[in-house]
Amino acid sequence: MPEKILLVATGNVGKLKEIKSILADFQVMGAKEAGISFDAEETGSTFSENAAIKARELKKLTEHAVLADDSGLCVDALDGAPGVYSARYAGENATDEANVDKLLAVLADVPEENRGAQFRSTVCLITEEGKEIYGEGVCRGRILTERQGSGGFGYDPVFYSDDLCESFGVLTHEQKNQVSHRKRALEDLLKKL
Ligand code: IMP
Repeated sequence: MPEKILLVATGNVGKLKEIKSILADFQVMGAKEAGISFDAEETGSTFSENAAIKARELKKLTEHAVLADDSGLCVDALDGAPGVYSARYAGENATDEANVDKLLAVLADVPEENRGAQFRSTVCLITEEGKEIYGEGVCRGRILTERQGSGGFGYDPVFYSDDLCESFGVLTHEQKNQVSHRKRALEDLLKKL
């Protein structure tokens, strides 16, 4: 069992699993699992600012190393929107369905060749001693004109992956996680540790 504990600022089981498999040198635990409840407002204007806000808030509550991530969808034709606002694109507390509906409506007249997009993720690790290390990951593709599949979450059903030549909505978690922006951000981080 690795001795260094790493607390992650998420309650998302899928994310934790992915982080555990990549950062195998740490004993990865969700903050909640470790009995820590915290809430950080994502007030940053970049993924790294938001990842840092969450990691720093959690670090205030523990001696252990911590990790936070922030991610979103950046559409070329929309100058990178919805970006850090991906979760609330159709409004505060918007559902995934409402966000996808809005995106499809906004891009309705955009031809296929201009529908390029990328998922982006930044992870921020703060070591026990307080050193901050960042990792960045990108996953390229394009926005479909209608949903294909209903798997995954968020914008997955309308994101056609350039790596896998398929909609994320029809792929399994395992297939998607092989090329995901989060995986790539964690691998980037690992190189810097
Ligand atoms: P968070 O960083 O997990 O809070 O993600 C922010 C938002 O970006 C999510 O609510 C989704 O709308 C979108 N998003 C981030 N990663 C993904 C993904 O892998 N698939 C689909 N949507 C994603």
